[in-house]
Amino acid sequence: MRGHFIQQSARKNKEKNRILTKINEEITLKEKESKSEPNNKKVKQELECLREQKIHMELDETAKKLKFIKQQQFQNANKPGKWLSWKIRKKKQAHSITEITSEGTNYTTEQGIMAQFKKFYSKLYSKDQIESDKISQFICNQKLEKLSEKQREILNKEITDKEIKRAIDKMEGNKAPGPDGLSGIYYKVFAEETIPYLKKIMNQILENQKIPDSWRNATITMIPKEGQDLKNVKNYRPISLLNSDYKIFTTILAERMKEFLKDWIGEEQTGFLPKRQMKDNVREIINIIEFYEFTKKDELALLTIDMEKAFDNLNWDFFKLLIRELDMGYKFINAINQIYDKQEAKIKINSGESQKFEICKGTRQGCPLSPLLFIFSLEILLKSIRDDPKLIGVKIRKHNYKVRAFADDLICIIDDPIKTIQYWLAKIKEYGEVSGLKINTEKTMILPKNLTKIRQEELKKISGIQTRGKIKYLGINITARNSQLLENNYDQKWKEIKKDLERWRYAKLSLLGRISVIKMTILPKLLFLFQNIPIIRNTQKFKTWNKDLNNFIWMGKKSRIKRIYMIDDKKRGGLGLPDLQLYHDACGLMWVKDWCTLSNTRTITLEGTDLRAGWHAYLWYGKKLMEKNFGNHFIRSSLLKIWEKYKSKLYQKTPKWISPLEACQRREIGGATWPKYKDILIKEKGTYILKSQEEINKEFGNLGWFQYRQLKEYYNKDKILGFEEKETFWDKVMKMEKKQISIIYSKLIEWETETVPIKENMIKWAQNLGKTIHLAEWEKAWNSRLKFTYATELKENWIKMFYRWYWTPQKLSNFNKKISNKCWKCNDQVGTFYHCWWTCKKAKIYWKKIHQAIQKMLQINIELDPKYFLLGMINIEKDKDKEILFNYLTTAARIVYARYWKKNEIPELSQWLVKILEIMNMDKLTYLLKNNYGIPKKQTNWDLVKHFLIERQMKVLI
Ligand SMILES: [Zn+2]
Repeated sequence: MRGHFIQQSARKNKEKNRILTKINEEITLKEKESKSEPNNKKVKQELECLREQKIHMELDETAKKLKFIKQQQFQNANKPGKWLSWKIRKKKQAHSITEITSEGTNYTTEQGIMAQFKKFYSKLYSKDQIESDKISQFICNQKLEKLSEKQREILNKEITDKEIKRAIDKMEGNKAPGPDGLSGIYYKVFAEETIPYLKKIMNQILENQKIPDSWRNATITMIPKEGQDLKNVKNYRPISLLNSDYKIFTTILAERMKEFLKDWIGEEQTGFLPKRQMKDNVREIINIIEFYEFTKKDELALLTIDMEKAFDNLNWDFFKLLIRELDMGYKFINAINQIYDKQEAKIKINSGESQKFEICKGTRQGCPLSPLLFIFSLEILLKSIRDDPKLIGVKIRKHNYKVRAFADDLICIIDDPIKTIQYWLAKIKEYGEVSGLKINTEKTMILPKNLTKIRQEELKKISGIQTRGKIKYLGINITARNSQLLENNYDQKWKEIKKDLERWRYAKLSLLGRISVIKMTILPKLLFLFQNIPIIRNTQKFKTWNKDLNNFIWMGKKSRIKRIYMIDDKKRGGLGLPDLQLYHDACGLMWVKDWCTLSNTRTITLEGTDLRAGWHAYLWYGKKLMEKNFGNHFIRSSLLKIWEKYKSKLYQKTPKWISPLEACQRREIGGATWPKYKDILIKEKGTYILKSQEEINKEFGNLGWFQYRQLKEYYNKDKILGFEEKETFWDKVMKMEKKQISIIYSKLIEWETETVPIKENMIKWAQNLGKTIHLAEWEKAWNSRLKFTYATELKENWIKMFYRWYWTPQKLSNFNKKISNKCWKCNDQVGTFYHCWWTCKKAKIYWKKIHQAIQKMLQINIELDPKYFLLGMINIEKDKDKEILFNYLTTAARIVYARYWKKNEIPELSQWLVKILEIMNMDKLTYLLKNNYGIPKKQTNWDLVKHFLIERQMKVLI
């Protein structure tokens, strides 16, 4: 059997080579001809055709060679995006280090450079001399509670097949493999065979077996830090490549540890744990600044702490002893002790590798467990700050606001700083001496508030730390007054963005390309700010930004598609241009959500500490009108404005999440939860009735008669409007945990564009065609296009047809009376859009030829209807393959015709055939590549087209 196949393929190869040789000969011939007659169009066309045929013949090899370049360009045309980011990343990885300077000496040889890196890293990772007795003493003094039986059980249970499978599924297949060369894909493909084996050794490790030697090794590669001097070894970020089996093991441990840490780590730390968000840190700091501005006018210092290479410096003994002190269980302790016992690494630079050296500290870069071990160790510092009554931050009700952390980014909230700062610093230093995490005084800063110049000087003197008028915390510029937030963040960012746009302007991108530049490179920058400081109240800012973006999209010319169509969802035929204001609103609504659910109590307590009523009073009962104070707050005023913009769309009746008691009084009753309408109403005979006082008290402890009376009062008023019965969009948002911003954004876009379901161009098309095109037909047309025309060029052609993109003689003469409005081709009729594309007698000749050819090619009878040929709205029920081919063929015809848009003549049929061949080749290539990556894709059956081309003497191998 196998022999038969070999014979077959040998014959096929032989045939292929014969044709290829022939094509090559012909190409050489035609090239000569073309050189001697550079203006002969026919020769040029034939040459183009031959080259396309050659590509087709070599497709399999091309697939390997072109892997990324040409096909990606086809698929994305000039649309940056994944392809672009891949290219940028590739460039970073491929960065070869050619020169390093150290202590005045230049090193340019590979050996010299390597030696410098090795020297730096072997020193960095060499063991700190910290006595373990001292660490033990420190940890013991913290009086930590031991783990509960249940927590210990989670960390120490036997590793199961299911856990291994989940860890393998989580791995990224295309990441660079570790020293053993086995990538994630290997384990994905051979999961069934490897899982039993992995399970055995992993469980043995938990029982105190040694880990495989290969797990102790890592290869460290260097990624240059952006905008830094790359001759300095310090300005590279080390990335460790670890073996996949090691990563599977540590992923399992990490999942278990996360389960434990999410309860054990205080809410001040928001890094690396599920359901915790960085934006809450910034929000708290801004709220603190508001609080010290209006309510508590005492002196305050915000101290941002920079720890020198924190992850690399963490002392192993510190967390090993900590794990033992907490009694985290025999198996878990074994695993950690095994991993952090003997580690070795070699550095890979350019093509060479250094010799191995020992690593004796720091959490392992690139290991899933590493960030968790880090926040686990840092929690001891946070805890000691939290528990120390001498360290004073802000206390409001049961909440203490003293410190905030996102991984190693720490900020301390220090009340009365001149008196207490030394004590704060001593505390941090004491921790640093045992954990290895030392303060970098040069990069640590103080933002003083309500301190006179003289007092600021004094603070600087006693702390030894510089004071600044502006500090950067988690990427946000913060000053002592929040009124400067906009200028320091948004205006500054926009300046950068404008420079970016200027650069992209020269990249010769298509319309879709420019839109995706905005989506991929501009939007993320702003989205980061929107998420952290959604405080823009002035719509003028968005108008100015939109103007700049418009200028970029339309290259300074008049826009050809209405803005409302541009921002509309692609599912509805829009172009998906991001609307910045709506993104801002979506981010703001995410914050409002906390006021509605009342769950993020730490944040909302601080945010509303000076208010006389509860959040629900402002959200639902219009309390803001009575209390001016509400709006004198940067966050509150902006958020309420956003909420009110959408409130009536979200609810027509009283939402059942409203708590009347929260609205009218803020003292807490009983537990931490407020009774909401959904808890205190019951439905009887179709109407909502308030439960009795006893009934409510079963769930909400000590509800007094007075409070019950208040409830009754609210209920009587609210029942007039009625209560929202169905689950609304906002009800869903309040329960949502993932992709919230994009889901809210889509809804806002839907509302924004709902007034224009019928676009003007759709009406014009209907007029031209003399019949109505139903909305459903349009939807089907653009959605099916999104699916199969993955090539941007093809997609863009269709969008241009749909939006009637092309300038016509008629339109141009409207702008400038000197220009004739006559058709460029026949020079007889008025050149309207429809005339130029269809009714012109010359256009008719072209389409007739195409029509005949397509009928023959696909062996079908089809009317020569512009609805089919210009808009591709065809439905070949029996044969979906033919439908797909038909759309490729007509799109090719339009692209070729558009090239002759302003010309007198029409294209030749042969040019169309070349275009078809090109599309076919690229479609095949896409299929081959996707297959290579294991992404299933249905292959288009091109046989009918191939037969036709072969009949035309074109060489296409089947
Ligand atoms: Zn004409």
